[in-house]
Amino acid sequence: MAEPTLLRDRRTLLRAALALGLGGALLSPPVQRFAGAADDFIRGPAVPDQPLQRLSPRVAMVFAEDGFPTPENRGMMANVIFVLTSAGVVVLDTGASVQIGEMAIRRLRTLTDRPVVAVVNSHHHGDHFLGNDAFVQAYGAALPIHAHPLAREQIQGLAGSGWRSMMERWTNGATLGTRVVPPNRDAGHGTLLRFGDTTLKFHHHGRAHTDADLCVEVVEDGVVYVGDVAMNGRIANMDDGSYLGTLKTFDALERDVPGALWVPGHGRASRTLLVEQRELFAGIYGNCLAAVKAGEDEAQARRRVLADPKVAAHAGRTQGWDGNIGKYISLAYLEAEKEAF
Ligand SMILES: [Zn+2]
Repeated sequence: MAEPTLLRDRRTLLRAALALGLGGALLSPPVQRFAGAADDFIRGPAVPDQPLQRLSPRVAMVFAEDGFPTPENRGMMANVIFVLTSAGVVVLDTGASVQIGEMAIRRLRTLTDRPVVAVVNSHHHGDHFLGNDAFVQAYGAALPIHAHPLAREQIQGLAGSGWRSMMERWTNGATLGTRVVPPNRDAGHGTLLRFGDTTLKFHHHGRAHTDADLCVEVVEDGVVYVGDVAMNGRIANMDDGSYLGTLKTFDALERDVPGALWVPGHGRASRTLLVEQRELFAGIYGNCLAAVKAGEDEAQARRRVLADPKVAAHAGRTQGWDGNIGKYISLAYLEAEKEAF
């Protein structure tokens, strides 16, 4: 649950912010200006309007250029998807802060006057649910927010407050003022939701990016929002994921929704997204498994992975490659070790 009294107590927040090393953030001009205007509530600055992309008759997205949160982008690192139905708008993932959610609502208002009637959170990472706050403030506390039950439990628990704190730190306080608003409806593999002229179908095939990812098919448009199961031009957090589970999920999605337009949580929508991501994931995992079977250590596995031309082809067009590929390989090596014995 959210903690409105805590969040509205300026001194408590100040102490918490200082404990998080946000002293600098509190002195930075935008945050200070806002704090001065509303003395009882420290809040990060507004997020500038981001580009809107129309993907199909029913689907549009607010596109995030960056793959990682920084003070400059104020946490704008994940796409926010709108499904425009005759019964209102369904929002798939809400961004990393209340400010990003508010920006997304401003962008939505340029497309339609219809209200938001439901939200889906694809998984429990904060760049996908911390914007829920803005949508319940605009459309009411009873707004249905769907997620996999394990994702809901994680957001209600440590993942909720933990991701909020981390996002404040990574953005130097730009996301301050965001309340954790957890999902309130459970969904799973095969769940069907009908909104007027539009059907949403949920897909879940076990652990992939996390243990509780939901992919959302907009049936009439042949569009599937895959959350972080696949990314385009990004390499990110696999700490909660599985390589084999991700590959299994790709196979199942391609079998169940052939020819779909795949929309990732990070990067651009594409019909070839899963083919390309399979090449990358299979390249990393396959080389690690070969190294494990040959009795090689992690450093040797790393050399194998990086020497594979199919993997190397991704380096130049993937944000954050140099900083993350080592960790990616470590995780794949660990998983391959577990699988091999
Ligand atoms: Zn993400």
